[in-house]
Amino acid sequence: MAKIILLDNELANQIAAGEVIERPASVVKELVENSLDAEATKVDVFIYEAGRKKIIIQDNGTGIPKEQLSLAFERHATSKIHSVFDLFRIKTLGFRGEALPSIASIAKISVETAIKGSSGVSATMIEGNFKMSAASSSVGTKITVEELFYNTPARLKYLKLDYTENAVTLDVLTKIALAHPQVSFSLYFDDKLRFKTSGRNDLKETIMNIYGLTHVKNLLPINVSTTDFKISGFLGNTNLVRANRYGIITNLNGRNVYMPKVQSAIIEGYHGFIAPSRFPFVILNFEIEPELVDVNVHPTKKEVRFSKEDKLREILIKEIPLALRHDEFIPQDTYVKASEPSVLPDEKPYEQMLFDLPRTELFSELPINDVNEKEVAPLFDNKEAFLLQDVTPIGTLHQTYIICETSDGGFWLVDQHAAHERINYERFQKALNENLHTRPLLVPVLLSFSHAEMALFTNEVIDLLKEVGLEVEVFGTNDIRVKAVPNYTHEYDEHIYIQDIIEQVLNDKKLNQQLLRTNAIATMACKASIKAKHYLSKTEMSHLISELLRSENPYSCPHGRPTIIKFTKYELEKMFKRTGT
Ligand code: ADP
Ligand code: MG
Repeated sequence: MAKIILLDNELANQIAAGEVIERPASVVKELVENSLDAEATKVDVFIYEAGRKKIIIQDNGTGIPKEQLSLAFERHATSKIHSVFDLFRIKTLGFRGEALPSIASIAKISVETAIKGSSGVSATMIEGNFKMSAASSSVGTKITVEELFYNTPARLKYLKLDYTENAVTLDVLTKIALAHPQVSFSLYFDDKLRFKTSGRNDLKETIMNIYGLTHVKNLLPINVSTTDFKISGFLGNTNLVRANRYGIITNLNGRNVYMPKVQSAIIEGYHGFIAPSRFPFVILNFEIEPELVDVNVHPTKKEVRFSKEDKLREILIKEIPLALRHDEFIPQDTYVKASEPSVLPDEKPYEQMLFDLPRTELFSELPINDVNEKEVAPLFDNKEAFLLQDVTPIGTLHQTYIICETSDGGFWLVDQHAAHERINYERFQKALNENLHTRPLLVPVLLSFSHAEMALFTNEVIDLLKEVGLEVEVFGTNDIRVKAVPNYTHEYDEHIYIQDIIEQVLNDKKLNQQLLRTNAIATMACKASIKAKHYLSKTEMSHLISELLRSENPYSCPHGRPTIIKFTKYELEKMFKRTGT
């Protein structure tokens, strides 16, 4: 066994850096948090070559006193806590005194700083050598980090493509900016501005600065105070639903944190308002006595623990539905269009028709993502056999199940939505797989995305979208322009198709052409199909049944649920104990 030795400073710092500094975004997070702790009201972030080359963070905070500058680079040196007592009432973002020495151990740092009433100073910390000289800086601090991971090649190799690293950095700064609407942030990639927040302490305005007008139009405020908590923020309405949890942003005492139990309570609060497989867009701030919170759980402080978490869950599960019910849920167009196409009063868009239905109906839909076509055991052994007999619709049960008399003395119940879905599924499959015709949109549809999402629109993604008939191009910094859609969307609302497909492409990294096609077809089939509680005339029923019987697989809908349940004459007679009479 080798001898036990005390690690030298440099190595100890590199080990600490391994925990805290994973990628350029981690540098940005740590340094921006320092700026916020220093009460900055303006923080500018400049990233060069995704942060591999250079990262600059400039703030107008308190600055660092000359005589303390070298200390700031020492491990466990912090101005933020002094005793164990302080550790349990932390109000600052930092407190471990690890960021600066960690970054200095894996990159080349220089600092320019000045405090009020004193001349400035600049310093470099390169390979453990600290050098300081006088400088004329304005009050605040500017930290430049160059050649990140230059001495840890394994880490450097682990970094992802530039656009991915930039997307992560965007995400980190976005979340910090949302937690601090009183601070003006700007972010530049290679000198190109990506976003800038006003810093006017208006969360709605900050959301607008980052996500654009579309999001702001679809938000409901929430404000709740109890003895233990103050909850404030915005709940996205049904127009902002997403296929993943990334739109659920929670801040605890000004710190963006991930709280799994709280997140699940938020999702539960939306239960019945959005489809089960969908997630809301939510920004919530929780203010809690610092004594109740333990932030010292993880080095990056991403996850926190606090007592009374169950209490908070209860409040959310109760208050979110109350806030959502206040909204009239008037569907607003999710898309910002150049001009509104004129719609005649009785030509309601399909989405509008959905909203006209009672809400319970609307949201009891099965998840439309669940498109794996499971073969169910056929209810009939031989399709030909029942094609020969007469099937006559005689009415509906609960405007949902069509009752059909059959010439052999039995009857069927047919789920009108499932049946229509099956018919449409096969029709769209044909349209997409055999001859995909697209049609240009007279008014291209503009879709707004966050900066992080925009970074995902690579050439491959754009090509993939083409495969399912969507011609899109990046338009400005926040928008995607859809120029053409598949012909078959014409009969329904192409906006639903566009939104669904784009969401799938952005959220599912493993998506391939085949899967996307299947999903696209199932989405259209579901959206285009008549719902339960929709009145059908006798002629429409007959038409539906005969179409269903002509389809390849009439027994189940694309989600694998049965479309037809058959009762034989024998079963009927048995139930009424008429057998043998
Ligand atoms: P921590 O934030 O955990 O205290 P850091 O290593 O991040 O540790 O920073 C060390 C110290 O350097 C801080 O406690 C603070 O006093 C000082 N400091 C770092 N960045 C800034 C800044 N932008 N403005 C003012 N002081 C700073
Ligand atoms: Mg810090």
